[in-house]
Amino acid sequence: MIKLSQPLLDNKEEKAVLEVLRSGQLAAGKLVEEFETKFVSYIGVKYAAATSSGTSALHLACLSLGLREADEVITTPFSFIASANSILFTGAKPVFVDVGEDFNIDPSKIEEKLTDRTKAILVVHLYGKPVDMDRINAIASKHGIKVIEDACQAHGAAWNEKKVGGLSEVGCFSFYATKNMTTAEGGMVVTNSPEIVEKVKLLRNHGSKVRYHHDILGFNFRMTDINAAIGLVQLRKLDSFNQKRRKNAQTLNTLLRDIPNIVLPKDEKGYHVFHQYTVRILPPLKRDEVKDKLESQGIGCGVFYPIPIHKQKVYSEICLDVSLPLAEKFSNEVLSLPTHPALSKSDLEEIATSVRKATQ
Ligand SMILES: *Cc1c(COP(=O)(O)O)cnc(C)c1O
Repeated sequence: MIKLSQPLLDNKEEKAVLEVLRSGQLAAGKLVEEFETKFVSYIGVKYAAATSSGTSALHLACLSLGLREADEVITTPFSFIASANSILFTGAKPVFVDVGEDFNIDPSKIEEKLTDRTKAILVVHLYGKPVDMDRINAIASKHGIKVIEDACQAHGAAWNEKKVGGLSEVGCFSFYATKNMTTAEGGMVVTNSPEIVEKVKLLRNHGSKVRYHHDILGFNFRMTDINAAIGLVQLRKLDSFNQKRRKNAQTLNTLLRDIPNIVLPKDEKGYHVFHQYTVRILPPLKRDEVKDKLESQGIGCGVFYPIPIHKQKVYSEICLDVSLPLAEKFSNEVLSLPTHPALSKSDLEEIATSVRKATQ
């Protein structure tokens, strides 16, 4: 069985975790701060706050911008649900804008959805492919609104040589086990704003700066030192992981090139880190049949995501008449194939041979 994703850990992470366990300082120690400092210099921003997950990072990022009821936030319908939920958590309303051929929000469709209530645009660098941040930031500054980046699938991805997550007011990362780097569960908020990072740090720790003095209503969204210890080791490996993912994607693009009725991912404009290698399966082929055939041949594959967010039950009330044709079409066509760094050359050949069989 070739897995769709697997965390890559060795004795370095084991040693780092054991050291924390033996130190007796499992939480609120120095490693979280050290992880924040290293992550900040990796992304090229000034400040970071580690959190318990990517979801809590997004939640706090939205709160730190002061989003609240009556506000609207432009976002993509084609993502993991946490992206849009982070807007809902604040009481604000997500306004969905359709995606383009690269699966990311289509900047040309944003301005028609802006209203007096629009306070921000929340973009997602889906599958590790950077969004065109020049166009997004131009729209935002023209209309005086903020930008939030969901970079939960895009650690190390770059636009114009600058790392995503650091290209807007506030960026968010996830270190869940399947991401390009992991801490098991975990997240990070990055920003160049001292006010935003201070707000996030307050909110993640029950609104408290001085112990048992609570200034605002907050949460426990802290990261532990065990998670941070893993993250510090993984961060050192991230660039080589990403290079391997990109190489695997290029190899797959070459091996699958001549297969009919499949659209392969393009690797152009920006540094794509291939969190997922996602193809589209076109008619007369049926995506779900191809998926079943691949799985029966021992090739792990996945559908991200089978239901666009505006069609999810939890969004049914606020998205009554919303129609987003490309997101709806792609949710029936996308199929992600393994591209993780542990794949060998023969794994990639086996994947290609299996795709050939499954699409005949
Ligand atoms: C993983 C992910 C999240 C949420 O991160 P968790 O750490 O699982 O909470 C949010 N947005 C996107 C695009 C993701 O892929």
